[in-house]
Amino acid sequence: MTNPPKPDARRNASPYLYGQEAAAVARVLEAGQYGHSSVTEEFEHRIADFLGVPDAVAVASGTAALHAALLAAGVGPGNEVIVPSMTFCATVQAILAVGATVRFVDIDPATMCVNDRLVMEAVSDTTAAVVPVLFGGRAVDLTPVQGELDERGVVVIEDAAHAFGSRNGARRVGATGALTCFSFGPIKNLTCGQGGMVIPRTPAEADTIRRLRLLGVAQSQSERANTTTYRVDSFGLRYQLSGINAAIGLAQLDRFATTEDTRRSLWRTYREALAPLDGVTLVDVDVDHTVPHLCQVRLPHRDQVFAELRARGIGVGVHYPPNHLQPAFAAWRRTLPATEQAGVEILSLPFHQHLTETDIEHVASALGTALHIGQRLP
Ligand SMILES: *Cc1c(COP(=O)(O)O)cnc(C)c1O
Repeated sequence: MTNPPKPDARRNASPYLYGQEAAAVARVLEAGQYGHSSVTEEFEHRIADFLGVPDAVAVASGTAALHAALLAAGVGPGNEVIVPSMTFCATVQAILAVGATVRFVDIDPATMCVNDRLVMEAVSDTTAAVVPVLFGGRAVDLTPVQGELDERGVVVIEDAAHAFGSRNGARRVGATGALTCFSFGPIKNLTCGQGGMVIPRTPAEADTIRRLRLLGVAQSQSERANTTTYRVDSFGLRYQLSGINAAIGLAQLDRFATTEDTRRSLWRTYREALAPLDGVTLVDVDVDHTVPHLCQVRLPHRDQVFAELRARGIGVGVHYPPNHLQPAFAAWRRTLPATEQAGVEILSLPFHQHLTETDIEHVASALGTALHIGQRLP
């Protein structure tokens, strides 16, 4: 019999605060910088410096980042966008928000990501963009087919919601020339509470997103103070990142070196703890290049094992039920064998920075027990 789980293994994911965040928020509140402010701009500069890129545009969420990036890339009605079904539903909703149609593609089962072959097989004359999802934090390298995609007018928009800090070769994700979208939601590698960031390819793209996120209103707040009107000169939404959220992100960025080390080390601890378990395959994240977002396994009798672990208070999850099987996306359904198989085999183990080695050993031991029980059940 295994010990009762410690509280931290009860959660599948959880933000990790370093203790500086609350003071940073208090300073912003005292200064009255609730909305878009110089704090937001400082966060943009610091993220751009961290990645080694000229510019970064902060927005309200990862979903907003994807929506804004698609709009800035000129994707709209009549266009088709290639996207893996194996992603969070936000990726798909952002594509539908611009009026484009969705072309779901399968994944490479070893990486849980698309690859250049899967993408090129799906490209057609109506394809305007491909949205690779950097699943679990792992980079997707489409550079071998970049020339072909450019020739066909297909824009690459990376959903890097899982992948802040990861590397594609020597460069950080976001610094490889693609239009890249990050999420800084509560459970992502770096959190603002809620937030997102677009890494634009050009100054024009950055400018479009900066107008879009402030409702298309042309003048800044200070310019507006001395006039009786304001000018709306483009489409826009309320997509800015508040100073409150940016302050949390800045405090998190100060400690990101620790975040990287901790997440890699926790993933490696899991790798060792799971190695003796027969029938459990750890999904490889290329941990030397990746800041892991998930610790995911594949196993038989997944639903029984899931129920058994939940009953023991272990916070397992499933990332993700395939999108092409969701009722809202039925119009774009097609057969995707690798995704469908993953959909019934994958299990996400508790993975967050509150975990200790003891928690991980406990999870592995409970998983071993649950597997035996799962095999005996129908
Ligand atoms: C979290 C997430 C998003 C959306 O980001 P939000 O900040 O929650 O809007 C998009 N894609 C993937 C793969 C995600 O995990």
